[in-house]
Amino acid sequence: MNARAPKGTTDMLPATARAWEYLTRTAQEMFARYGYEPVYTPLFEHTEVFTRGIGEATDIVSKEMYTFEDRSGRSLTLRPEGTASVVRSALEHTLVPQGSSIKLYYAGPMFRYERPQKGRMRQFWQIGIEILGAAEPSADAEVIVALWRFYEAVGIPASNMRLLVNSMGDEACRPAYREKVAGYIRSRAGDLCGECNRRADTNPLRAFDCKNPACAGVMAEAPLLRDELCEPCAAHYAEVKTRLDELGIPYTEEPKLVRGLDYYTRTVFEVQADAGLGSQNAIGGGGRYDRLMEAYGGKPTPGLGFALGFERTLLAMEAAGAEVPAPLLAEVYVARVDATVAGEAFAVASALRDAGVAAELDHVGRSLKSQFKQADKLGARLVVIVGPDELAAGEVTLRDMGTKEETRVALADVAGAVRRLLG
Ligand code: AMP
Repeated sequence: MNARAPKGTTDMLPATARAWEYLTRTAQEMFARYGYEPVYTPLFEHTEVFTRGIGEATDIVSKEMYTFEDRSGRSLTLRPEGTASVVRSALEHTLVPQGSSIKLYYAGPMFRYERPQKGRMRQFWQIGIEILGAAEPSADAEVIVALWRFYEAVGIPASNMRLLVNSMGDEACRPAYREKVAGYIRSRAGDLCGECNRRADTNPLRAFDCKNPACAGVMAEAPLLRDELCEPCAAHYAEVKTRLDELGIPYTEEPKLVRGLDYYTRTVFEVQADAGLGSQNAIGGGGRYDRLMEAYGGKPTPGLGFALGFERTLLAMEAAGAEVPAPLLAEVYVARVDATVAGEAFAVASALRDAGVAAELDHVGRSLKSQFKQADKLGARLVVIVGPDELAAGEVTLRDMGTKEETRVALADVAGAVRRLLG
């Protein structure tokens, strides 16, 4: 058998898993302060949830989905992102009755069949938030601020990040603009790659995202939506920027930022960080998707959110020297003098754990000397020495690993004595 994880996937070994738990814990605590509640949707959905939501002509839907038939012949797809599922769930459970709103956050794995490279995986992990039912520009600003503050909270300084914002317009102004870009692409057909030429018919705005340098040069001169926004979209965008200005959140307007999903309307944003990530430097992003609920057959319900990528965020943290708090593996090590007292040593360790102390003991038959080495390695501040002589007197020895001082305490009071010594 092939004992390696599939291409584009990786095991989250303890150091990385600890980082994931730290980020999700930080997200939980922080987004709770902003009023968000947790939601967990299935890892797979009916395929239409994504084809209809994200859009047939996007890279994700046309090239990257893990789609399969289950044993009953239903077409199912591993979720490539979180928003479509959250909106499907909100519709199914009527989470947003007319006139109300809800704030949700999620965390978990996503799946895209992409060409793996640094910061680009086939199974990757995202943390995201969504607000459904909120149309006002302050909601856009809140979501952007929450993303920015999250990165700061995990130790990525503002100076290492760039926040890009743009408005994608809405159904009033975007269709005409799309046609204009399609016309521009056709007028420059000879200077653009085959894929960009095809995009003129399918998804012209995606040509702004083409990685081909020649295309990027041509698209740099394309008409910009910023100059064609309808009045309500322009006013909405201006107010989002004012809210960000008032908080001193530094942003750059990037009129060519379109992002890879069809469902966006009005505000879109992305945070980029330098972490040797090359073109994978977007560590998180999102936007507004006011028409998505209707695409699923629901009532018009404005919505917006962001998703941040765990792998890239971790790389940006490493580049910034940000640390994941070290785990407390053992405050106390319970060492046994010989095998005759193994049962008592186990009982002492259990009693300490029950009393809320992080306690470790030997399960591999180490000598007393190597148990002490192990205690050192784990960073234990105290060692409880359990030996036949002490036990005969109803006691154990407590050794302070810093001062090397030893004291005898009653076996019955070991948890109390340890807690007093640990302070
Ligand atoms: P998106 O859902 O495409 O807007 O992506 C949001 C964030 O998820 C990105 O900024 C990345 O940090 C992360 N991300 C997206 N695709 C991948 C991938 N294939 N591998 C790792 N991270 C990804």
